[in-house]
Amino acid sequence: MANKVRTRFAPSPTGYMHIGNLRTALYTYLVAKKDNGTFILRIEDTDQGRLVEGATDIIYETLKQCGLKHDEGPDVGGDYGSYVQSERMASGIYKKYAMQLVEMGKAHICFCKEEDIQALREKAGDSFYYDDPCKYLSKEEIETRMNAGEPYVIRQNVNKEGHTSFDDEVYGTITVDNSTLDEMILLKSDGFPTYNFANVIDDHIMAITHVVRGNEYLSSTPKYNLLYEAFGWEKPIYIHCPPVMKDEHNKLSKRNGDASFQDLVAKGYLPEAILNYIALLGWAPSEEREIYSLDELVQAFDVKRIGQTGAIFDIEKLKWMNGVYLRNMEEDKYLELLRPELEAHVDAKYDYRAICQTLKDRVVLLKDVEGMTDFYRGVLDYTEDLYNNKKAKCNPEVGLNCLNLALPALKGLTEWNNDTIFAALAKVAADNGLKNITVMYPVQVALTGKTVAAGGATMIAQILGKEEAIARIEAAIAKFN
Ligand code: GLU
Repeated sequence: MANKVRTRFAPSPTGYMHIGNLRTALYTYLVAKKDNGTFILRIEDTDQGRLVEGATDIIYETLKQCGLKHDEGPDVGGDYGSYVQSERMASGIYKKYAMQLVEMGKAHICFCKEEDIQALREKAGDSFYYDDPCKYLSKEEIETRMNAGEPYVIRQNVNKEGHTSFDDEVYGTITVDNSTLDEMILLKSDGFPTYNFANVIDDHIMAITHVVRGNEYLSSTPKYNLLYEAFGWEKPIYIHCPPVMKDEHNKLSKRNGDASFQDLVAKGYLPEAILNYIALLGWAPSEEREIYSLDELVQAFDVKRIGQTGAIFDIEKLKWMNGVYLRNMEEDKYLELLRPELEAHVDAKYDYRAICQTLKDRVVLLKDVEGMTDFYRGVLDYTEDLYNNKKAKCNPEVGLNCLNLALPALKGLTEWNNDTIFAALAKVAADNGLKNITVMYPVQVALTGKTVAAGGATMIAQILGKEEAIARIEAAIAKFN
């Protein structure tokens, strides 16, 4: 194609970012970037009844967190602004184009009341077709009623004869009978365009080459095409994406599942893991591979490999992927990522970097940090039963004995770190004909009050520091009496 690729993500500010919408944003970004094209953000806020305070900021914030940098948009500007539909409306463009369609006989002024049409629709059921009487009004009558201030909408005219076809990159050639197309409203009585109209006008004016959106718009696309044809405009390439599903029958929604990006982030999922996971919901890479950075997705993405059926959102799979991202993360970045959690739950006197080392292979969600570091705040309550451990060949009696042996050995250390602590405890074990674990396990219980503790006895002892570790072991011995 000669034209530079230009794609747009056109969310309505609803107050949260649905995972399906975010995936649309991602695919839209990938289609543009694959061809070094331009990725545009357009805010579709013409449904004034549904406006939510602060909702636009959530859109900016989400794109930023995910690294989906837009080249043009309300906050970054561009040559095709405004990028906010309500602002575009103020310049009168939608009305201008709607009136142009009326003049061309491709649309008409309609004075009918929506309640009346709705009543007819309910009576007629599925086969409802509204043969709008306003289409047959004389020019004079229309003018008189308009001049008298009677409210009106502008409706598209559809020639009911024949059929219409178009090509979609995902769904192939779609053919519809024109008799099934309703004469949709283009301009509402409040002067606002409908989505159905504004998307065509804006996509054309913004020179959009590829329209990527949910497949719920597939059935309306023939009507949009009639508008392109009426104006003599080139149609964009269509890429309709299958829905993200909760299960076989239901779309993922905020009510039935983890549909909100913000909620997932709050639960401890990493934006890059979420993005990687949703890339695979509906698109299949050509190789056996699941982990992709955004740049790698740009390279690998191929519209031809988007499927037609909805993919099920599997939170367990996302959890797994999140763990992969955390494990592979470079040390400094990991520390910065965990720092807020650590600051919230672990005394700052402890070495956060060392704690991160103990957590590295265990944390799957950032939220896990709290439970995995609880013992730094104090030994958890436990009973002697905790010393029972088959694998460690330990029981309360053995445990007490080992603690009594370990205590002087640890007290005698002049250098206090994982290696020296390990060597001291290993020596206690060897000198007494015990396995290392038989000594390590009760020490860990004494230090934490837990059977499983990230880092194990020696790293935890290092992090607690000599004084605190010794005090905890002494307290554990005292507990037996
Ligand atoms: N505002 C529409 C939505 O949020 C955009 C659809 C489109 O991309 O054309 O669903």
